[in-house]
Parts: sequence; C-alpha cells; structure tokens
Amino acid sequence: MILFDLICDREHQFESWFKNSNAVGKLTKAGQIACPVCGSTKVSKALQAPNIPRKGALRSGPPATAKGNAELTKAMEKMTSAMNELRQTIEKNFENVGDKFPEEARKIHYREAPERGIYGDATAEQAKELIDEGIEVYALPVPKRKTS
Ligand SMILES: [Zn+2]
Repeated sequence: MILFDLICDREHQFESWFKNSNAVGKLTKAGQIACPVCGSTKVSKALQAPNIPRKGALRSGPPATAKGNAELTKAMEKMTSAMNELRQTIEKNFENVGDKFPEEARKIHYREAPERGIYGDATAEQAKELIDEGIEVYALPVPKRKTS
C-alpha cells in the first residue's frame, strides 16, 4: 500500500491509500475516489512540492475553544523553553563550527580531525549527503539565534 496526496478540482488536498501507483490513475479516472471535503470525483494526484516534508503535523486557524487556546499557549511556551534548553545544552557542550559544519563533520568521521561534538549550519542537501556517507547528524528543532 502506498499513501498518495490527491487534489480535487476545488483544490482540496487529501491523502488516500492505494495498492500501487497504477491504481491511483485508474481509480481517479474512473471517478472512484471522492474528495472528503466537497465530494467531487474530479480528483488527481497532487504535485509534491520539493523541500517540504511529505508528512508532517500542520495546524491552521484558532483552536475551537477558549480553553483550547489557553492550553495551546501553555504548550507552545513549554516547547519554546524546551527548545531554548536544548540549544543552551548544545552550545555549552559542543563546538560551534558554523558554516564549516559539513566539512568538519566529515573530517571527524574520517578521523582527520579530533573526535568531538560539533554543531553548525548545513543545508538540507548537505545534511542528506552526510547521512548518505554514514555520518550521524541531527537536525535541531531550534530557530537560528539572531546574531544582530
Ligand atoms: Zn474537494
């Protein structure tokens, strides 16, 4: 089974499971798949936007209740302080190599530089290359601190 992103003629996006990619075309053309939002059977495969994670939790609009709103605010504050704590721990215990991160991570991996924990910046592309080479990297869920 494969999960596909579909879109109807009114641009509602939704997901549906299919046996294989051939089944998607067959079933959508036959009008077998209906949009869960408007019921339209004019459905096609949605184009995947590059660099956007295929699956991820998204949120939109205000919470349904005032209580929900207060809970959300609290949870967001908790998350922010947890993220700050994570960043502080890393800054305290790891060496900042900035833009040289991919280069340094490689050197350490191939033992051309002393083994140590580092952090810094890398593009998604660079991170993927490192992972492909078997180098352990972790993305930090932390916004970059403003340097100004
Ligand atoms: Zn629709």
